Amino acid sequence: MIKIVRRKTRVIKIGRVAIGGDNPVAIQSMVKCKTSQVAGAVKQIKELASAGCEIVRVAVKDSDDARAIQKIKERTALPLVADIHFNWRLGLEAIEAGADKIRLNPGNIYKRNEILPVVEAARKKRIPIRVGLNSGSLPPRKSSGPKEISDRMVEAAMGYIRLLEEFDFFDICVSVKASNIPDTLAAYRKIAARCGYPLHLGVTATGTPHAGIVKSAIAIGALLLDGIGDTIRISLTEKPQEEVKAAKCILEAVGIRSFGPEIISCPTCGRCEVDLVKIVTELERRLSTMDYRLGNRRLSARQPQVAVMGCVVNGPGEAAQADLGIAFGKDSGLLFKKGKPVRKVSSAHACGALLKEITSICSGRKHSSLP
Ligand code: SF4
Repeated sequence: MIKIVRRKTRVIKIGRVAIGGDNPVAIQSMVKCKTSQVAGAVKQIKELASAGCEIVRVAVKDSDDARAIQKIKERTALPLVADIHFNWRLGLEAIEAGADKIRLNPGNIYKRNEILPVVEAARKKRIPIRVGLNSGSLPPRKSSGPKEISDRMVEAAMGYIRLLEEFDFFDICVSVKASNIPDTLAAYRKIAARCGYPLHLGVTATGTPHAGIVKSAIAIGALLLDGIGDTIRISLTEKPQEEVKAAKCILEAVGIRSFGPEIISCPTCGRCEVDLVKIVTELERRLSTMDYRLGNRRLSARQPQVAVMGCVVNGPGEAAQADLGIAFGKDSGLLFKKGKPVRKVSSAHACGALLKEITSICSGRKHSSLP
């Protein structure tokens, strides 16, 4: 496998999570109810944490939202990022309430005398600021400025970064999200070449899960393969946990983080005589509740591959190449371990048998018992 060489960046800390440098690419998501609805926000953050989210962002639209940060932090453990637009004073209130990072949008908070107080407050609390550009809220274009969206985002981001540096502030993270893949890729590649700060990757407003995950996987996956990116958020018109699941899949597919055994399953066809979709779905569900605590490792600590194949055409071959595999016939399957056939199991007991074998392969790596 080709080795990904990560871009060298400064390291910043968002609460207890460090990003940039050699730190694992962190998974972010966002609370989707009003932040001042504390009970709802706390519930979502706990669900996000269970799904594997590592940093969570909340919208701060008014003072009630800003004040809610303190109450939310008392009841949750994830580092909290306050998303600030238009009103710089809300940034001050969010910092006072305990936000672990502030996101400022250069498209709507751009006056020097408004940015400086937020920088001073962030410095006092030793928290970073994300310079968060979106193609949909760019500062007005100067007549002499670039026309390309990606160039406009990069110019605006660099101008903001220079201002923060002028204020002697370097705890910076940057994002330049567009809603299409070419502009997103171009903007991130250009900003990566022009600054040494960690980058938060995302494609903005991608849509519903199918389209959103495909767009995000292409853009974020391509950047990660280039070694660009220190934290990611998959923006979906869906429950926030789905964003986290997609983020984990992308990181695993790129090969830079691992969250458990990798399932290889065939698409099934007319030759398949068992309900393979049911078996694989159940296996995936039960594996997702196992705690491998491997998300911070690189794939050099490779997780076992588990092949679940519908018939004898490719089944035995794939199953034999994986650490563990099963190739189904009619109502039963032949179990393979390290390429060797072990025994037959009925399709009804296949999921349980695979989980038992996975437990045995992972013993020593696994930290909690099977569900
Ligand atoms: S492994 Fe067998 S059942 Fe699965 S897609 Fe290939 S031929 Fe069809």
